[in-house]
Amino acid sequence: MTTIRTTCTTCGDVELTTSDVGLELSAGADAGRYRFDCPFCGTTQRRPASQRVVSVLLATGVAYDIVATVSAITEEEIETFSKDLDGQGWFQELAASDS
Ligand SMILES: [Zn+2]
Repeated sequence: MTTIRTTCTTCGDVELTTSDVGLELSAGADAGRYRFDCPFCGTTQRRPASQRVVSVLLATGVAYDIVATVSAITEEEIETFSKDLDGQGWFQELAASDS
């Protein structure tokens, strides 16, 4: 079984298995985040995952979710993003292909 080593902000180094880890990927982005529940303190932790980390985790069989955004965004960013979009068609397309 593949062991994934990471760190908990409270407990320090922890070892996880692929079933303990979940990837959160943004559609169209190479990087994302991974999350895990610390086996010692039980808190859910999230870490940024570079493209390389994403590739490695996927290769080891980690489950993933496609999420709309992978990080907290500000009102200003939302406003800018909304202006960039020409309607909501892109999102409907995304949702339709997600089944
Ligand atoms: Zn912990």
